[in-house]
Amino acid sequence: MDAQQRAQYLEALGIDVWVPRRDGSAEAASPASGAADPSRGADADADASASASGAWAALRAEVAACTKCSLHRTRTQAVFGVGDIRAQWLVVGEAPGAEEDRRGEPFVGRAGQLLDSMLRAVGLARGENVYIANILKSRPPGNRDPKPEEVASCLPYLKRQIGLIRPVLILAVGRIAAQNLLGTASPLGSLRGRVHHFGELNTPVIVTYHPAYLLRTPADKRKAWEDLKFARSVFRELTASS
Ligand code: SF4
Repeated sequence: MDAQQRAQYLEALGIDVWVPRRDGSAEAASPASGAADPSRGADADADASASASGAWAALRAEVAACTKCSLHRTRTQAVFGVGDIRAQWLVVGEAPGAEEDRRGEPFVGRAGQLLDSMLRAVGLARGENVYIANILKSRPPGNRDPKPEEVASCLPYLKRQIGLIRPVLILAVGRIAAQNLLGTASPLGSLRGRVHHFGELNTPVIVTYHPAYLLRTPADKRKAWEDLKFARSVFRELTASS
């Protein structure tokens, strides 16, 4: 991504002028824009790929028909996730809202547009090297916070998605996603700026604000940008050593 593009994305994020001049090499390298992961290799074997795609389809069907918690009664449809199932980045949010419930895709509407801008700011695009999912697959009525028993019922699906995608990095957006992924009640502010880990694969997790929150609190967009830069640098370190 060049400086001009970055400036455009920052503008889309709603962050005023912010393009520090750094040495060209650091700015020039687009960190993650669809870059192939050498560790996955071109011959990431066709058998494993076919098996993974079968497992993915089975998981998607399971979620679509899920009645494990009471949210199935009020949802329009389960919202499984969207994006590249071989992505190196996984964005995890809270739960579908009204529009997501209607359209069957996470992060649509204004919050989704802001998330897309945030992703572009670190060299990502929806559908390219990033997968987007939520802690809960079904919408809580009135967009209330998820209940613990709903998270307990639904989190195994996300774990299975993570097991199949095997992302390099998880970006947890918002307090609910961060707290439930990390099993903590700590406030979001104290979770930012550090590398956490999740699950059996010990996947690194970086925490930032939910785009819906940023729409309500634009003053914190700059902090979100700091989080994204941190995530990008952690991602670079992780992929440089692989
Ligand atoms: S929220 Fe998750 S566990 Fe509950 S019904 Fe939806 S898919 Fe099933």
